[in-house]
Amino acid sequence: MVKLFSSSITILVLTIAAVKAQTAGGTIDPTLYPKANEIPPTDSPEVQAWLKEIDFKGAPDLPLNVGEPPECPEPPVPEECYWTCDGCAGDDIVKCGRANTWGLTFDDGPSTATPTLLDYLKTNKLSGTFFLIGSNIVEYPDIVKREVAEGHHLASHTWSHHALTTLTNEQIVAEMKWTEKAVMEATGLRLKYMRPPYGDINNRVRFVLKKLGYIPVDWTGDEFDTNDWQPSMTVSKVVSLFTKSLDAYVATNRTSGFYCLEHDLNADTVGFAQELIPLGLARNITIANVAQCESDAQPYQNDGGSVPTPSGNVTTPTGTATETSQASGSPTSKPNGAESHKAGVLAVAGVAAAAIAGLVL
Ligand SMILES: [Zn+2]
Repeated sequence: MVKLFSSSITILVLTIAAVKAQTAGGTIDPTLYPKANEIPPTDSPEVQAWLKEIDFKGAPDLPLNVGEPPECPEPPVPEECYWTCDGCAGDDIVKCGRANTWGLTFDDGPSTATPTLLDYLKTNKLSGTFFLIGSNIVEYPDIVKREVAEGHHLASHTWSHHALTTLTNEQIVAEMKWTEKAVMEATGLRLKYMRPPYGDINNRVRFVLKKLGYIPVDWTGDEFDTNDWQPSMTVSKVVSLFTKSLDAYVATNRTSGFYCLEHDLNADTVGFAQELIPLGLARNITIANVAQCESDAQPYQNDGGSVPTPSGNVTTPTGTATETSQASGSPTSKPNGAESHKAGVLAVAGVAAAAIAGLVL
């Protein structure tokens, strides 16, 4: 009953947020923001004002990592608690807090492919969390407004998608606050959750994020990284790998939920999502966004407004979905850290390929 109640509150808050977003300005002047896809300078008046509000005393004194994404330090630095390298998650969220639930998340948007995904989610009455890139928000503010209006939950994926452990504390603030400002301008909502690009997070990054009021959400291990962004990925590959992961989940631990890594990056990844989601529904797995997974009645750092509308429900299976492929091959079983780091390295190639294809990342 407690879960049901808090879930209802969460739905109410998201619908209130939708109404507030509909009344927010929604237009953004790109000339008032940093250059797209670049680490924002820290000497601008805006960043200087944000930095004045933050006390960095007590921040872990860790060296900046090097690389995009970085090489793992050798030997590992225990006090770093570096998720992608040693699997140490600190107090990051790594699992959906509801039993038998798929925490549906999409990273790297909004993009020109996002509206197709939103159409699909609307048709199927599903709600997800979108981890947004600030540069893309400025380019597509109307898509962000639509996400909120249709009951989805917004979160941050930084301004320029650089590995945060390579950035200074001040640069991390700039990455987070410019993204926050863009979403505020588009929707009136102040973001609360974030996902670090490449999953690249350590105790120094966590310290800065906490100062800004952000809660990091990673994902639930290699088996729930769909690798949908990889240029070599096909529908049959992504479906067969994920089928194995879901079958293992159903067989062993419906008692906890999971967060899956997917992207609304381009037509391919959005197409894959429409193949993967029915696999979960066919196994009677509930689909929810991060706010619903965490039973968070305040999924933003500010209040969302006051008028509820009926959207954004936790979606329970209807039994109408069908599987599209038989399982084949075997999923990776490497430790989470190593494989995630490898995935991050490969992500650079994926981003480059997408950029060549003319997409804004
Ligand atoms: Zn990303």
